[in-house]
Amino acid sequence: MKKGLIILLVVAPQFIYSQARKIVFPDVSGYLTLVCDLHQHTAFSDGSVWPDIRVREAILDGVDVISLTEHIEYQPHKADIPHPDRNRSYEIAKEYAKDKDLIIIHGTEITRSMPPGHANAIFVKDVNKLLIDDPIEAYREANAQGAFVFWNHPHWPRQKPDGIAELTEMHKTLIAEGLLHGIEVANSTTYSDEALTIAQENNLTIMGTSDIHGLVDWLFDIPGGGHRPVTLVFAKERTEEAIKEALVAGRTVAWFKNNLIGNEKELALLLSSCLETGEAHYMDETSVLVAEIKNNSDARIVLRNLSEYTFHLNSDLIEVPPLSSIELQIKTKEKKSAIELSFEVLNAITAPGTHPEIILEFKIDQD
Ligand code: ZN
Repeated sequence: MKKGLIILLVVAPQFIYSQARKIVFPDVSGYLTLVCDLHQHTAFSDGSVWPDIRVREAILDGVDVISLTEHIEYQPHKADIPHPDRNRSYEIAKEYAKDKDLIIIHGTEITRSMPPGHANAIFVKDVNKLLIDDPIEAYREANAQGAFVFWNHPHWPRQKPDGIAELTEMHKTLIAEGLLHGIEVANSTTYSDEALTIAQENNLTIMGTSDIHGLVDWLFDIPGGGHRPVTLVFAKERTEEAIKEALVAGRTVAWFKNNLIGNEKELALLLSSCLETGEAHYMDETSVLVAEIKNNSDARIVLRNLSEYTFHLNSDLIEVPPLSSIELQIKTKEKKSAIELSFEVLNAITAPGTHPEIILEFKIDQD
């Protein structure tokens, strides 16, 4: 009896900690939802850790897919870590993860001044062959290897002093030639509305990445409830080929500081899986409806009421905490057999300043 109590005290907090930090999003209709962080660094470029740490962090965070995207040209640790073969970071991570449930995609960062700035090429075969002076030729080589290429932090003030992401003639050429396929709207602790517009006007895939160099726990305050930015990829299967197909098709939503950023179609798909309505009944002898809304995701979902009804426990703003349910008390004036509520999802973004709408249907118990 006493022993059981001690075990509970020691084990339970660790269990809660490790479960709570995992990023959880439900699968969507027709697709698996894979949590991907496709921009990360290690000591093989300007990061501070060995590749195995990236694998361990990803597993702790419930990330399904990572890519270690070292700067091939920028090698500040070269005196201590000679790096003749630029594929080593990938190979070490891959070996370390071989019996683990984590997909490692072979990637690299093509690091140039603006234009074109920095880009990641993932699904490459031999990074050494991308060490080419002419940036367009480097993109061509990446594409020849079958890469998916995305523009990194187009809003980075060190390369764009006004912080406004903007297409240059070189980017227009890269897009026109089919050499650039995606763009980060969220990078590390930063976000760009302008990058979202560029994505949507040029049919580029919306990406969010940690671009972590140190430890994710420190930069994103994960022990304090924070999360790293990730790209949620809606893939037909849990394979590299299926992830690439989904990225090329643009089936993504970026998750950044609790914001879900994506095109209308993908956000509708995701939100309809994240939010569910539960049981609904009238409070005895009243026309106040007691109804449940369930959140199956790790996002703290913030809703603004757009329907004619008002609520007894809430104002027009309603928060549904991660992986939990809330009770709503809806004043319907007369008893109904079913109702629909429409909401704006304030922590989801389909265009700058624009939030998607959802409709929740409640079927009401008649007894
Ligand atoms: Zn980077």
